[in-house]
Amino acid sequence: MFLLLAACERATTGRPGEGRPRDSHAGSATDTAPEVDGLACGDGLALGAHEECDGADDSACPGACSAHCQCPSMPPGGELSIHVMDVWQGDGVLVVSPDGFAMLVDAGDEDDYWSIKAHFRDQGVAGLDYTLVSHQHADHMGAMDWALEDHPEVGLAFDGGGRADSNAFSDYRAVAADKRTTVRVGDLLDMGPSITVEVLHADIGDRDNENNNSVVIRITHGEVTALLGGDCESAVCESSFDPGPIDIYKVHHHGSADSSAPWFLDQMSPSVALISCGAGNDYGHPDAPTLRRLADAGAEVWRTDEVGHVVARSDGSAFTISGGL
Ligand SMILES: [Zn+2]
Repeated sequence: MFLLLAACERATTGRPGEGRPRDSHAGSATDTAPEVDGLACGDGLALGAHEECDGADDSACPGACSAHCQCPSMPPGGELSIHVMDVWQGDGVLVVSPDGFAMLVDAGDEDDYWSIKAHFRDQGVAGLDYTLVSHQHADHMGAMDWALEDHPEVGLAFDGGGRADSNAFSDYRAVAADKRTTVRVGDLLDMGPSITVEVLHADIGDRDNENNNSVVIRITHGEVTALLGGDCESAVCESSFDPGPIDIYKVHHHGSADSSAPWFLDQMSPSVALISCGAGNDYGHPDAPTLRRLADAGAEVWRTDEVGHVVARSDGSAFTISGGL
């Protein structure tokens, strides 16, 4: 049964793997993903497993917390939702796991943070468990210090490390303080037992092109997969990992010409492509040839400059996409 939201300007539904052969999973990165069954606190696999785990009273949580060692900020809702919020020319993505864990992936620039706050209010977001900075450009993390100040309940602030000296990053670093946790390729971000969040790419120390340091995560919820990767570009970043089949692709670098290479899209065969970009932006994003590549790959494109916030919801076997929220 699909959930369609009444407020949608338009909506679509999908099932994992639509448009691609089901055996395309063979040999994918999914097959070699770290085993999470039986994951125990302190075994070194999961970032987000809190130190107080040993003394945690699991019965105090609204859902099981034995695998992730803290109570979630949101009530377990049984669905994965990925909110690509309209922050004009930037990225701000909220991920809420079926177990109630919420992570803000990028927070846009300061001028557009009001949009995130409004969406949180409209969606009843009670709190955040984690934040993740994809990379150190202001259109992604300019307002992350404000988000952390608004949400002192955040347990861990993930980022790729790095050494940028921008004011935006200095502000973030000051507020995140000892919550900062550097992620590396292969890490699992623990958002409860219902989904797997894997780091496929992280800071490679490229000081000439910060986009190449973007943290890329793959989210797996049953049969549904999603990819978030900041401003990952094709020549270095996209070529460094195999995403495997992906249903919901948050398009890299606002749909720029230097992202979403044909061979990269072939690896994913995405059903939907969600683009975060500002109407009339100075960069010409999304790039027209990139839109054609996405169409050629069979992806249905949703753009924040056209419909505002775009929200993907998964029950683990199917997903919906809604815009205009
Ligand atoms: Zn960007």
